[in-house]
Amino acid sequence: EAGIATITKQVDSVCPYCGVGCQLQWNVGPDEKGEETIRFVVGRDGPANHGRLCVKGRYGFDYIHNPKRLTKPLVRRAGAAKDAQDIERVKRGELALDALFRPANWDEALELAAGGLRKLRDGAIAQGLRGNAIPLAGFGSAKGSNEEAYLFQKLVRQGLLTNNVDHCTRLCHASSVAALLEGLGSGAVSNPVADVAQAGFVLLIGANPVVNHPVAATWLKNAVDRGATLCIADPRGNALSRRAKWHLRFRPDTDVALLNALLHVIIEEGLVDEGFVAARVNGYEALKASVAEATPERMSEICGIEPETLREVARAYATSSGSMILWGMGISQHVHGTDNARGLIALAMVTGQIGRPGTGLHPLRGQNNVQGASDAGLIPMMLPNYQRVANDAARAAFEALWGRNPLADHLDPTPGLTVVEIMHAAAEGRIRGLFVEGENPAMSDPDLNHARAALAGLEHLVVQDIFATETAILADVILPASAHAEKWGSYTNTDRLVQIGRPALAPPGDARQDLWAIEQVARRLGLPWTYWHDGPEGEDGDGQLAAEAPVARVFEEMRAGMSPLAGVPWSRLIREGAVVTPAAREDEPGEAVVFTDHFHTPDGRALLVPTTFAAGPETRDADFPFVLTTGRVLEHWHTGAMTRHASMLEALSPLPLVTLHPLDAQALGIAHEAAVELATRHGSVRAVAHLSTEVRRGQVFMAFAYWEAAANRLTGDAIDPVGKIPGFKVTAVSVRAPA
Ligand code: SF4
Repeated sequence: EAGIATITKQVDSVCPYCGVGCQLQWNVGPDEKGEETIRFVVGRDGPANHGRLCVKGRYGFDYIHNPKRLTKPLVRRAGAAKDAQDIERVKRGELALDALFRPANWDEALELAAGGLRKLRDGAIAQGLRGNAIPLAGFGSAKGSNEEAYLFQKLVRQGLLTNNVDHCTRLCHASSVAALLEGLGSGAVSNPVADVAQAGFVLLIGANPVVNHPVAATWLKNAVDRGATLCIADPRGNALSRRAKWHLRFRPDTDVALLNALLHVIIEEGLVDEGFVAARVNGYEALKASVAEATPERMSEICGIEPETLREVARAYATSSGSMILWGMGISQHVHGTDNARGLIALAMVTGQIGRPGTGLHPLRGQNNVQGASDAGLIPMMLPNYQRVANDAARAAFEALWGRNPLADHLDPTPGLTVVEIMHAAAEGRIRGLFVEGENPAMSDPDLNHARAALAGLEHLVVQDIFATETAILADVILPASAHAEKWGSYTNTDRLVQIGRPALAPPGDARQDLWAIEQVARRLGLPWTYWHDGPEGEDGDGQLAAEAPVARVFEEMRAGMSPLAGVPWSRLIREGAVVTPAAREDEPGEAVVFTDHFHTPDGRALLVPTTFAAGPETRDADFPFVLTTGRVLEHWHTGAMTRHASMLEALSPLPLVTLHPLDAQALGIAHEAAVELATRHGSVRAVAHLSTEVRRGQVFMAFAYWEAAANRLTGDAIDPVGKIPGFKVTAVSVRAPA
């Protein structure tokens, strides 16, 4: 690669895709037209990847040079009505974006963007509305930096005077975080992924890391090759199955039954670490009573795994010198996702498999910065560092840190609405204005027909992004943003490792830094923010080029309000490139393994919460006899906004495939690569059949990255009552060859 490209600049940064957080180096040089581009990427020796990269990290970078990048602010043309059907018309090329939007300069676009929000806010205040009744909300992004997430939630709280601010964590691990906060007092992982190297036994449940966390999967492979025992629990096939001693392909949506059977065996066979339970755990007797009837024989009838296999796995987990649990959205994306995660926490607690290297609990975080965005307070019930908005002392601390707000004397104490609740409120007219920074709810939300209609019905929608996403097509104002490789920022990976992203290029055309644009909107809402020293004499410029100083200012403010960052000044991040948190002191490494002698609960002890198996709302019947599971494919990331604009990745995986068991396909008369129609109680799509035993009979799988067959047209919006996460993993569906 180096031999065919002239390289003028090498920039050390971090991958923009998944939560593994691989460090990489952008190699920049002139293209055939002489313009600066990223020519190729190599892996760096970062703590999470040691030089390794997957196909997305290595080849998924040229989306930033895609000619479809937004290069000018756009405002909706007078008379261009909003219609949810326009999304597909634009995507199919039947309707030009130009027919809906006209270019504008930044001043006009910012005034329109902020003006619409301001009008709705002031009208609501005049009517006496407060808190989550204010008809405004914001969706920030787990793709952006910690600083962007922090500033965006601050803008919504201080500028829109509501806690109606959320992001895609609500759609991925909200239930895991809810269970971990409840049980252990901290929503993050206990041990880094690479700790599998020291584990004797690994339970990988509801996760497919070869596809979704590929470099993390390599650590798992290495661990098994070294001698660790791997148990996979997942209804779907898994590329790591060949290395697993057990692959429990249980019936979809029966996680609670499976986990309760394991707990029953551990208790019945005297495998409980009684010293650990006595010293560090509350609620054991209630848990014991709740699983007394959950015998492997009874639970086997529900989950479909042989009783003796359940016994063997329970024994192996409990008796290994170090057992680690890693899980993904197969656990969390259920209407009882919090119960699923509670079961995993209980396994670790009753056996004392936590607090040491090679043990613990690791929810594999999806987006590159979903951990950091959550830490930074981009969630409706929490201020930064998981301080509850309802907590008077926490609000007072942030009011003191943030200084006087000319718009309101105090932060609002009412927890805000979550992603799905905001869409419902929009459909009912209770949310009338929305600011979306870097997310794509018109693809990622469940029950898309409903969600898109709700977005189209908004009086004022502002979207800040690098492409005209499906959501942006319904906007009133589109602000052209900067891509990951065009800005400074810190990002927190799944291991709680905070790493530095550095700019390699300038944004195209008139696109601007996200942090600058957020601040500009905030100023027009009446907030006297000056993180960005701009203007003709300002040393940080006008937001067109990346500037380090304003990012550092935001980070330092964030650090002042977040104790896990106490020992991580910006200067240390720049110096070291990566620091694991919590880090109490600047001269010491952070804590890679937590809960070594106490949990982060008020009394320092874990809390066990019993669970009982219950069927979800998506009942299968003669009309909808299959189970649909949605997820990702290796080459495409989430809603495809970046990867479907990356030439290599799109060439590798251009089609919306529906994975179907060959025997089911045969019975339905559907051939490999033939068209297939899926319909649920919520909607229908047409896609391409891919026959594989990767799914069980009666199960189908689709990725949600393809607008041509948007999988979330099929999913329902029932949510977990605690984590408020939708049940993406189980939808009753019919499958047939199109007429
Ligand atoms: Fe990027 Fe994740 Fe792949 Fe690493 S494993 S290169 S962080 S997508």
